[in-house]
Amino acid sequence: MKVLKFGGTSVGSVKSMLCLKHIVENEAKRQPVIVVVSALGGITDQLLATSQQALKGDEGWKTSFDEMVERHHQMIDTIITDTADREKLFHTVDSLLEQLRSLYSGVYLIRDLSKKTQDTIVSYGERLSSHIVATLIKGAKWLDARDFIKTHRKNDKNVLDSELTNKLVKDYFTPLPRVSLVPGFISMDNDTEETTNLGRGGSDYTAAILAAALHAEVLEIWTDVDGFMTADPKIIKSAYTINELSYIEAMELCNFGAKVIYPPTIYPVCVQNIPIKVKNTFKPKGRGTIIRQRVENNNKPIRGISSISGTTLITVTGLSMVGVIGVNRRIFTALADNGISVFLVSQASSENSTSIGVRDADAAAAVQVLNDEFAKEISTGAMFPMNAESGLATIAIVGENMKHTPGIAGKLFGTLGRSGISVIACAQGASETNISFVVASTYLRKALNVIHDSFFLSDYKELHLFICGVGTVGGMLIEQIKQQYEKLKESSRLKLRIVGIASSKYMLLDRNGINPENYQDELKTAEACTPDKLRKGIIDMNIFNSVFVDCTASKEVSDLYQPLLDHNISVVTANKIAASSEYEKYVRLKQTALTKGVKFKFETNVGAGLPIIGTINDLKNSGDNILKIEAVLSGTLNFIFNEMSAEVSFSEAVRRAKAQGYSEPDPRIDLSGKDVIRKLVILTRESGYPVEQDDVDKALFVPDSYFQGSVEEFWKRLPELDADFEERRKVLEREGKKWRFVAEMDHGKTLVTLKAVNKEHPFYNLEGSNNIVLLTTERYKEYPMQIQGYGAGAGVTAAGVFANIMSIANI
Ligand code: ADP
Ligand code: ASP
Ligand code: MG
Repeated sequence: MKVLKFGGTSVGSVKSMLCLKHIVENEAKRQPVIVVVSALGGITDQLLATSQQALKGDEGWKTSFDEMVERHHQMIDTIITDTADREKLFHTVDSLLEQLRSLYSGVYLIRDLSKKTQDTIVSYGERLSSHIVATLIKGAKWLDARDFIKTHRKNDKNVLDSELTNKLVKDYFTPLPRVSLVPGFISMDNDTEETTNLGRGGSDYTAAILAAALHAEVLEIWTDVDGFMTADPKIIKSAYTINELSYIEAMELCNFGAKVIYPPTIYPVCVQNIPIKVKNTFKPKGRGTIIRQRVENNNKPIRGISSISGTTLITVTGLSMVGVIGVNRRIFTALADNGISVFLVSQASSENSTSIGVRDADAAAAVQVLNDEFAKEISTGAMFPMNAESGLATIAIVGENMKHTPGIAGKLFGTLGRSGISVIACAQGASETNISFVVASTYLRKALNVIHDSFFLSDYKELHLFICGVGTVGGMLIEQIKQQYEKLKESSRLKLRIVGIASSKYMLLDRNGINPENYQDELKTAEACTPDKLRKGIIDMNIFNSVFVDCTASKEVSDLYQPLLDHNISVVTANKIAASSEYEKYVRLKQTALTKGVKFKFETNVGAGLPIIGTINDLKNSGDNILKIEAVLSGTLNFIFNEMSAEVSFSEAVRRAKAQGYSEPDPRIDLSGKDVIRKLVILTRESGYPVEQDDVDKALFVPDSYFQGSVEEFWKRLPELDADFEERRKVLEREGKKWRFVAEMDHGKTLVTLKAVNKEHPFYNLEGSNNIVLLTTERYKEYPMQIQGYGAGAGVTAAGVFANIMSIANI
């Protein structure tokens, strides 16, 4: 014999009802079955909400009631095809609905809703649904659960009277019908004969009680997910089904909020060693989960994660507690006597403070009870009044394998720390099957994700990208990510998810990922963007493994790095402003990244995609010292000097650099040497010498006055320089030399200058917009190390940014 329980979503729609019919009728061909059903999905909530409306005198209760009538009627009309059956069912259902209407009407008229009335009202959900299902399944026998599921009052709560219930169940199910149909959740008080229930989610419990009393072969919980999963799939998209769980593991997970099974359900079947199967009504062929005594070792240290939001932590503390025997006894007795359950306890070994976790709903009462209990100690000052902290969530990681695996707590707390999540309290029992800890509610989702990622998803690593700037570099980066996505998923087990895209005007944020295919259209209708809104939006999203990617040249955007790094978000930037700003700022950014365990990467600030900064770092890390740098770092200036000829004037060459995307958006930044100064400052700093932009000596080739006015004026005046340049160019040509704008660093001293180099010089043959860097170090002294290649251009810059992102993924 089997007991099959179908939850709200399994009786909530026509489709699910037809799946249920198929499953039950198939099973009944093999053996007798008892079917337990919940109310139609959402009806229990609606029954409760409607009674609150009636209580408040809100006429709206009628509309809500009519909606419920309509929903049940429509269901019957669609699924019960036999006319006689339908007539009979309508009769039963309508008389139940009539009683329900009278109850609401009474509540509305006298504005009173006793617990008794509320329990009666809420029972109609299962009473209605069970009649519908009993008619749907041919030959099913409907039984009223209230006849055999009995409760009594204890600590002001309805508690199952197990002994009586067991006896009655045995009587009622002898002989055992082929198909019995039982409403879940509802019960009856044995003394008052009032309708009661087993608590929200209690249909699972009804089914377990029947399975245990009748020694069922198995208890099957049919629901809307593929089984018991590693975490709530509604929060963790990558959660997957656990094939096997032990009773202990299941109990730990359910007690901590895994809603898929109502916690009291497990005990009655566990003591009888009856397995529980959790299966998806919509995919009956799926493997589902089996919960039983002994399970195969899956070699994973933990089996599941669950959580409860709405947690309050009450701290009992005071000087008199040190070594005093009996304080804990008093805490727990006082709380238990008042029916308050504690789900987490953490006591410091100094014994002068005990923190206990309770549900928010119990918090005020718990504080009151404890303040009363310790009133004397508080009045003498030996203990402090109770301190309650709300707005928290409790998370548990569970698995019997934890006891054989050292380092789980280390991994757990290390992972949380790196994500900037602080743990407010924690507890691990000596059984080592559960580690529970409390975090701020705002961190719940992120904490679940990082833990899930680090314990279950070694198969895939996810990186969440916020891309700021969708000009040429940003646009190409998104394109490159799009093209590489599948390959990286396959070969590197990496998923690069773009969760934010911002232009100077608009921003799109979506934790589920933005389709790189049509982000441009979406962006046009997105929210207006300011740096402040962007910072707040990103920090509030609070996603794990986040990377902010700056493809702008904006100072305001670079000002976001510090607050983002402070919130454990890595930064990858093509924007040079931050790394070349005040030395103190640059050091602070690097330090923050280091202490927060995230990355601040800016390889493309110098030489676009060329590995210059990375090489300097590698040399330094391996014990070398950078003594000198000589470099041509401006692809733009190099392009301009290479373009100039008898036919192409200086101003024309500048224009071409801009048109072909080699210059900064404002070319004055290149011509004033500012761009090269910034790059040189960055390389010098990375080589280990503190330097500011003002420390760089400069010998420039465009007079300062040209940089004073507007860009338009600059373009207008630029041709004035052509004649002079042409004169000098001719001389240079005669001497067989070329101009190169060179950046130099010698033991920390820096200079940028226009140099004429002859054929023998390594800079002479530098084509187009190429860059070259010569690094003289302790090891590369006689022959400097040379790095050369394209030093500008959106494609190579985007690729360099991409490489930086990948270096974060690979840690
Ligand atoms: P039913 O109406 O069938 O009783 P419930 O809504 O009570 O269904 O429980 C199923 C829901 O439990 C799922 O839809 C899922 O969102 C949630 N859930 C929470 N934790 C887990 C978990 N670890 N595995 C599966 N589902 C979970
Ligand atoms: N219908 C009840 C509830 O929603 C019982 C259950 O579904 O298990 O809580
Ligand atoms: Mg449920």
